[in-house]
Amino acid sequence: MSTPQTAAFHTLGCKLNFSETSSIRRMFEDKGYATVNFGEPANVYVINTCSVTDFADRKCRYAVRQAQKANPDSKIVVIGCYAQLKPEEISNIPGVDLVLGAAQKFNVLNYIDQITTTDKGMVIAGEVEEANSFVESFSFGDRTRSFLKVQDGCNYNCSFCTIPQARGKSRSDTIENVLKNVRTIADKGVKEIVLTGVNLGDFGNGTEVIEGTKPKKEALFIDLIEALDQTEGIERFRISSIEPNLLTKEIISFVSSSQKFVPHFHIPLQSGSNEILKLMRRRYLRELYQERIEWIRETMPDCCVGVDVIVGFPGETDEHFQETVEFLKQLDVNYFHVFTYSERANTLASEMKDVVPMKTRKERNEILRNISAMKKRAFYRQSEGKVKRVLIEHSKDQEYVTGFTSNYIKVKLKGVDSLVNELRSVKLETLTPEGIYEASLV
Ligand code: SF4
Repeated sequence: MSTPQTAAFHTLGCKLNFSETSSIRRMFEDKGYATVNFGEPANVYVINTCSVTDFADRKCRYAVRQAQKANPDSKIVVIGCYAQLKPEEISNIPGVDLVLGAAQKFNVLNYIDQITTTDKGMVIAGEVEEANSFVESFSFGDRTRSFLKVQDGCNYNCSFCTIPQARGKSRSDTIENVLKNVRTIADKGVKEIVLTGVNLGDFGNGTEVIEGTKPKKEALFIDLIEALDQTEGIERFRISSIEPNLLTKEIISFVSSSQKFVPHFHIPLQSGSNEILKLMRRRYLRELYQERIEWIRETMPDCCVGVDVIVGFPGETDEHFQETVEFLKQLDVNYFHVFTYSERANTLASEMKDVVPMKTRKERNEILRNISAMKKRAFYRQSEGKVKRVLIEHSKDQEYVTGFTSNYIKVKLKGVDSLVNELRSVKLETLTPEGIYEASLV
């Protein structure tokens, strides 16, 4: 009997990449490959890259070196957003055998045997327009929660963003297929699904109408969540992130009365200055954002709301930044993800004048992170002594298990692994200095 081929996978970047790596890993397993940890000797390494996080290039090179060290005779394949944007650059990294673009990455198994031994990696990456069909992906087995991709690509053109160039036009799964995937995930015993997409609120845009069927109205995100709310087996759905202009009153009102959609929204703001929002080519002004938060608070006072903000965008003066600070301080939101602006090739923003010095960008980042920490702590404090349902997860600390409440408060409790993947009621007792609740089962 021959020894099975082995494969190892490494993901850089977002939940979408994570769900796609997971699906590609299952394709390898279906072909008879055994999965090993990245860093262990394997026959094939697949590195799924990101173009949004800083140092995409450095992180990719580091992963390639790790793979080479573990097995110098392996085949190393690089896929993902960075691979679509800079295929030639990646193919010159010593050790890379194959670079696949956005339209080719799900066919990786067909290309592996074509790898030839030359000094330079083989590139199979076309124009991003070729990535025009939706390929389903979801994760399970790696975490307690499953990330389910329901939408891909983006038709917006924010001036700082390379995602449309890396992932193509907006396109979505059909509701029928999402429901099928949800049943598969539920059959594996998963209790929580996080709906993911590049521009999730744009769900329905670009969904192909199956030939021979009568054209029907394109589904909207609200239709998807209404259908999901009826499914059996999954106890919680979380919406990963949604653009403020697409977060309708209907969606908010539906989530507030749903038993399955949890009270947690993550809504990109990017700047609290209307002038900067216009330069960023965002599709809303701060007044719209404020209104969305007020709508949420009317029906869900304990909903957790997270905000993405970019600091140091070209042209952001001290006054603009101060506007953002004041706007965020008075806004009833609970945490921020703060990004320091960094130039991306082939974007409008990278050619803009009035570049903010890196030192100032970093100082602004720290100011917002401090405000975020205070807001998060104040939000956590409101739940002190309350009993909440928590989905229990593994923790690195052997003595504890951890978990999140539906409104995204992190807790830890002394417990055993047999509690993992159970939804249990716990009492939130002491807020630790690291910002996690010590809790006990009730
Ligand atoms: S909405 Fe803007 S920032 Fe988000 S993926 Fe689309 S272009 Fe990029």
